[in-house]
Amino acid sequence: MKALLDDFRWWAWQARPYAGRFALGIAISIATVGANMALLAVAGWFIASMAAAGLAGASMNYFTPAAVIRGLAIVRTGGRYLERLVTHDATLRLLTGLRLWFYRQIEPLSTLDLHNGDLLARLRSDIDTLDHIYLRLVVPVVVGVVCLSAAVVVFAWYSPALALVNLTLLLAAGAIVPTLVYRLGRAPGQAAVETGARLKAAAVDWVEGLGELTVFGAVETRRAAIIELSDEWITQQRRLSKLSGLSNAGVLLLTNLALVGSAVVLIPLIRTNALHGVDFAPLLLLVIGCFEAVALMPGAWQALGQARAATARLRAFEHRAPVINEPARPAPAPTRDTIRLVDVGVRYTPDGPWALQQVTLSIAPGEHIAIVGPSGAGKSTLVNLLLRLTPKSRGEICWDARALSAYRAADLRARIALVPQQVYLFHTSVRENLLVGRPEASADDMIAAARTAGIHDEIVALPEGYDTLVGEEGQRLSGGQVRRIGIARALLRDAPILILDEPFEGLDRATSARLWARLQRQLADRTLILISHDLARVRTFERILVFENGRLVADGDHARLSQACESYRRLHSAYFKREPAAVPAHGPTPAQRRRA
Ligand code: ADP
Repeated sequence: MKALLDDFRWWAWQARPYAGRFALGIAISIATVGANMALLAVAGWFIASMAAAGLAGASMNYFTPAAVIRGLAIVRTGGRYLERLVTHDATLRLLTGLRLWFYRQIEPLSTLDLHNGDLLARLRSDIDTLDHIYLRLVVPVVVGVVCLSAAVVVFAWYSPALALVNLTLLLAAGAIVPTLVYRLGRAPGQAAVETGARLKAAAVDWVEGLGELTVFGAVETRRAAIIELSDEWITQQRRLSKLSGLSNAGVLLLTNLALVGSAVVLIPLIRTNALHGVDFAPLLLLVIGCFEAVALMPGAWQALGQARAATARLRAFEHRAPVINEPARPAPAPTRDTIRLVDVGVRYTPDGPWALQQVTLSIAPGEHIAIVGPSGAGKSTLVNLLLRLTPKSRGEICWDARALSAYRAADLRARIALVPQQVYLFHTSVRENLLVGRPEASADDMIAAARTAGIHDEIVALPEGYDTLVGEEGQRLSGGQVRRIGIARALLRDAPILILDEPFEGLDRATSARLWARLQRQLADRTLILISHDLARVRTFERILVFENGRLVADGDHARLSQACESYRRLHSAYFKREPAAVPAHGPTPAQRRRA
């Protein structure tokens, strides 16, 4: 109960900016439902009175009731239109507000903490589910309570017994049936949501992997699995439909019981002349109107369950401490990129394993450094540390002679351009993908960066050149093209430090050699950090850092490491055994090339 109240408080707090619109929506709904009930009653009274007057041969003023009926019909129709307009407008505004709130919750969190698929689900379906709260829960319940209370007062004015019968049956239809439906429907409802999600994932998987499935002859088995899931989903949906059918039948039964009950109460009153005969029909029609209003209640309860589940998932992000704390009074952005790490350790969870430990090293501005090490050695963690995506757990890191924590994360990130292992392209044009890191860059700068990355000619050859849409996650381009667009994007950012994580994977030797030569010329004065398994290229570096199990085990050039570092020798010989065609690169080292 406390949790329910807490959820309501949270919803009210979120809805606060739009309170006026929400109240207006409810007022219009009350007028509409009230008009509907009154219309039934007045029309019933009018017909009965006309009949009575006809029988008695008396005349009666039918202009006024006819005008009232027309007026109520207009209010009902116009009200329904206005009600939809106002309530949906208010709800859409609330959903916009909720999306902004959600972005604000996740913004300070590290991207390492966020899982894209799950985030998307929360943004899309959970926030959308919250539209139920107002449209399917608050409006029907408030309107129901107001209109039904008014009707019960009318009933009581005619006869307390009539009020009692109807109140009891209305409560049964509006509270007991919905509670039962909610209880019985919760488990199959949840199961149906889960099966539905699994079915969606399996179907998407099937379509995307159809090529592989055909080649491996697995189409039929996969199809059978999907059909099985689909059957399971249909069974669950059928169970839910049965339940909602039963609940409709229950409400209908109660409506008829109420009609019979009301007739039983009213007929003796007419006999004893305590009630005028013409009031009989309108009262019974009012009973029907009441039950029409109550029929929305089971839906309201279902909406409550779904909305609470969605709220819980969204609120899981509330009060989550950001991984990186921004300084209260940030130091001005660094101007020199001397970076020093002393005895640095990183662990991703407080008692998890050390992803980096006892790392001491310094990076001078303009240095070109290669980093090698087996997978899981801590190379990406070092990059995350510099990008302020993860904090250090111990030791000291200084940038331009100040602790890293003294700067705003954005100021540090502005000095680094990264080409990650998995380059992500947005579903938009090549141009916009290139300009992501520097939207104000000129077309000439953009083309120059694309030329250096060796992708300009291929972009121009696309159907609409730089304005070609790349498809979702760059699907319309090859892996090598996506990677080179990633490199061009990083170059365009024009940051003093460039980090390349396996930039040449998927490129043939000749292309990658040409690209590397151009990059080295272009980046002669900038700090360059290359993470790579390509030992033929790495060995040309004057400075190579070797990581193993989170430790920096060696720091030096190829000649020195070949003699002194067992790990390096192992990586080196494993690489040339795997790639016998790779010729150890001779010729000038990057540093020599720079001096030349
Ligand atoms: P590399 O880049 O050399 O392959 P990583 O820096 O990715 O190595 O990983 C170092 C260690 O940290 C590994 O044991 C890895 O499992 C762990 N690790 C990396 N990223 C995370 C993360 N976001 N959460 C928890 N552990 C992580």
